[in-house]
Amino acid sequence: MDKETLKNLLYKNESVADLAPETMAQADAFCEGYKKFLDNGKTEREACAYSEGLLKAAGYRPFVPGEALRPGDKIYWINRKKCVLAATIGKKSMAEGFHLNIAHIDAPRLDLRPVPLYESSDLAFLRTHYYGGIRKYQWPTIPLALHGVIYRADGSCVEINIGEKDEDPVFCITDLLPHLGAKQGEKKLNDAIPGENLNVLVASRPVEDKELENRVKLNVLKMLYEAYGIAEKDFINAEIEVVPAFKARDIGLDRAMIGSYGHDDRVDAYPALMAEIETKDPAYTTVCVLTDKEETGSDGVTGLNSMYTFHFLQQLCAAQGVDYITAFQASKCLSADVTAAYDPNFADAFEPSNSTYAGRGIAVYKYTGARGKSSTNDAPAELVSYLTRLMDRNQIVWQIGELGKIDLGGGGTVAKYVANQDIDTIDIGVPVLAMHAPYEIVSKVDVYMAYRTFKAFCEDAE
Ligand code: MN
Ligand code: MN
Repeated sequence: MDKETLKNLLYKNESVADLAPETMAQADAFCEGYKKFLDNGKTEREACAYSEGLLKAAGYRPFVPGEALRPGDKIYWINRKKCVLAATIGKKSMAEGFHLNIAHIDAPRLDLRPVPLYESSDLAFLRTHYYGGIRKYQWPTIPLALHGVIYRADGSCVEINIGEKDEDPVFCITDLLPHLGAKQGEKKLNDAIPGENLNVLVASRPVEDKELENRVKLNVLKMLYEAYGIAEKDFINAEIEVVPAFKARDIGLDRAMIGSYGHDDRVDAYPALMAEIETKDPAYTTVCVLTDKEETGSDGVTGLNSMYTFHFLQQLCAAQGVDYITAFQASKCLSADVTAAYDPNFADAFEPSNSTYAGRGIAVYKYTGARGKSSTNDAPAELVSYLTRLMDRNQIVWQIGELGKIDLGGGGTVAKYVANQDIDTIDIGVPVLAMHAPYEIVSKVDVYMAYRTFKAFCEDAE
């Protein structure tokens, strides 16, 4: 055997810069739209509304259950203002299966508690309850914004968005000064900032009347009443999310990466949506699902563990008079969620040959879960083979791996909820540095390779 043949027997995990340098400029251009998506969709409601705008602009019409659907038709459905379902009807019968791209648009954050506002020593704060897996110590001393909705006593809705415009004030959680932090510093990282300390500073000036108590809190309520017509009780009928006030920015002298809040999982949601929008006359019916509630385990009426996605698919099948069980069994799904990018500063957490790296393309995960593959969809080898051949045929740079060292922990995705409905499903996703931090980092070429993967899958006629 000659040297070249021998060398080709090795599996190599190489960078996009080496394998497909011509795609770097395309990646940079694609990511300009992605940064806008990030800045305009910091909550699931905002990401949903922004996505709906993109779908409408691309000619999608709201799906009407029972209506006739023809090949090439583009339709969408919004689930309770938080989830997006978009489809392009294929030339083949739906009985031959759907091609599903799924990602999530909720992100780890702090939610306001039902009775959030209080005053202590002339400072007013909002109490929070964290949503999803956060490292609590990362949230103090960064600028924060308030996003969400409040329903007034008469049932009308107020949208809140404070902290994003340059002229807006921002909010902040305090931390102890190092001079008095010796005891705190001895605590375990996970215990140093308890959940009860994640209180957001919102004001410090009192109302004038010295006869009153809680004068700073009252001043906050006065300002809120004047701006929005709401009272303290209205916080009960609300979903207000505290998110970092940063905007998406290029990282590095070479601008090869993007730093932002909420890459998990908008970095898969945006490419999946763009691939769906750009797909014309596909062979199989394509469906893009941007779901909510992944970060808290997918339960609830907007989570993938509810029937909403599958009801939509069933209604599509009904429109063609197709048995949905047959359609589900013939379907394939790319369940897209972020994964850990190998971090040389924390090399101990990773097994290098089964890690995924920022800049080496879209990551494929045969399984996720924890310990002995608990709570995972372990994709069949047949499906892995389908996907790797599809990506190779389309010159997509990809890599395969696991989240990190086996006994350190793990994590799940929505893949199992789709697979549990009798749909072949495999995990893919963009690797992220500092995943779940208020400021996460991704590589632009990986975002672009995610888009190319969704597009190839939408257009596949095999
Ligand atoms: Mn995720
Ligand atoms: Mn996550």
